[in-house]
Amino acid sequence: MKIICIGRNYADHAAELKNEIPTEPVIFCKPDTALLPKNHPFVYPEHTNDLHFELELVLRIKKVGKHIAPDFAPKYYDEVGLGIDFTARDTQKKCKEKGLPWEKAKAFDHSAPLGKKFLKLKDLPNSESIHFELKKNGNTIQSGNSSLMLFPFPELVSEVSKYFTLKIGDLIFTGTPKGVGPVSKGDVLEGFLEGEKLLHLEVK
Ligand code: MG
Repeated sequence: MKIICIGRNYADHAAELKNEIPTEPVIFCKPDTALLPKNHPFVYPEHTNDLHFELELVLRIKKVGKHIAPDFAPKYYDEVGLGIDFTARDTQKKCKEKGLPWEKAKAFDHSAPLGKKFLKLKDLPNSESIHFELKKNGNTIQSGNSSLMLFPFPELVSEVSKYFTLKIGDLIFTGTPKGVGPVSKGDVLEGFLEGEKLLHLEVK
């Protein structure tokens, strides 16, 4: 399986990092080694001094597809979960300055922990307006809603499938809302989707 991530999909987050509002989705990938195995501790990576959290809604692909039209895209996923797109912001800054790829900043081992389960879109109050939030040490630090995405789920799936054949089990991290920031050893991160706690992570 592969992990495909979308960058700058919320205007307020693009603004906070002083990035332009994109005219098409920004796409990058993480390898499957970016997942955090169950019951495995999350250890602050040695290669960064500025690790940032980015809480994101994650789609799981349920059908093989290529060149999927936006109208048909919802047939390719029916559940959503939470994940953190951990980012070594110091490394990313260096990569951006030199115009280099972001993998060292974004695709390292355990940079994509997932929540404990996915929820069926049909069971949510409104599948086009999904609320999610992140607490750090009990305080809400990120709060987002999928209705604020620049490119909603169907457009993302369609765009991604122009370049990558989507396979069953592939994950799409759909972008982070405003509020990204650093984590430190000892921090506890908790992710909520429509009020249900799906993600719990302690930084070791
Ligand atoms: Mg992100």
